Amino acid sequence: MNEEVSRGPGVVAKEEATQESVAKTESAPGAASQPRQFLEDLLLIEDFLRYGFRSGRQIEAEEGTSAFGDSSSAEDETGFANEDRQARLKDIEARVRQCTACVLSQSRSRTVFGEGVTNPQVLVIGEGPGAEEDRQGLPFVGASGNLLDKMLAAIGLSRKTNCYIGNIVKCRPPNNREPTPTERDACIGYLRAQIEILRPMFILCVGRTAAHSLLEVNDAISRLRGRTFAFEGIPVRITFHPSALLRDASLKRPAWEDLKQFRALMDGTADGPAQTSKGGE
Ligand code: SF4
Repeated sequence: MNEEVSRGPGVVAKEEATQESVAKTESAPGAASQPRQFLEDLLLIEDFLRYGFRSGRQIEAEEGTSAFGDSSSAEDETGFANEDRQARLKDIEARVRQCTACVLSQSRSRTVFGEGVTNPQVLVIGEGPGAEEDRQGLPFVGASGNLLDKMLAAIGLSRKTNCYIGNIVKCRPPNNREPTPTERDACIGYLRAQIEILRPMFILCVGRTAAHSLLEVNDAISRLRGRTFAFEGIPVRITFHPSALLRDASLKRPAWEDLKQFRALMDGTADGPAQTSKGGE
């Protein structure tokens, strides 16, 4: 077995960060590069503290050029060129495919990393893959995926044009049970890294588990809906998981109210300030 496979993302990253830091120190290219070296080391440390592994971020190049590509690369306010985001996401996805940090790795068919545009207006976060997702390796496919796509389309959103869809855990919990706190904790670093790269303008959590894991709250979904939270400064709203709507049609109307409020938030016609913050902002 690949040794990296048997270790969690935190252990792998720590070792990588240490090795990389040592290698860089040994081959110090000269005095002129030392400030850059220092910044790179700081990034490595921050990555490890925040995600438990190296996200692949790089420091900005000097004199207006991008450290992530040539001047033809389109960048936005995050400083990431789109192709660079794709490369970073691919790197993390490759780690996820090899991950055995929790027991869900033993029963999965495929990992489900996420799907959508890499400069999303909205990041939609669910709980974890179901049977169909596990088969296809894609998030929100099958009946609940179709419903989610319709819900998003009703407020002008689509994974093809302006959304990215992911989950708290990347491997299917057996029998569609909820992921345990241990499993969620083992996996959340990957989602945090995705958010750091994608930098969505808004986040929509579908279902209580997604909200609990992302925001570290424990309220019932009835107390979470209708409020605006924040994760790392990004506004977050919560609504029902589409599979709950498939089980109980009476939830469709309140879910539609949630979506209209979310759209209003996006349009700047709803409550602006977050009521509760996560991530210190
Ligand atoms: S659920 Fe996440 S932490 Fe657990 S094995 Fe899959 S990728 Fe790794």
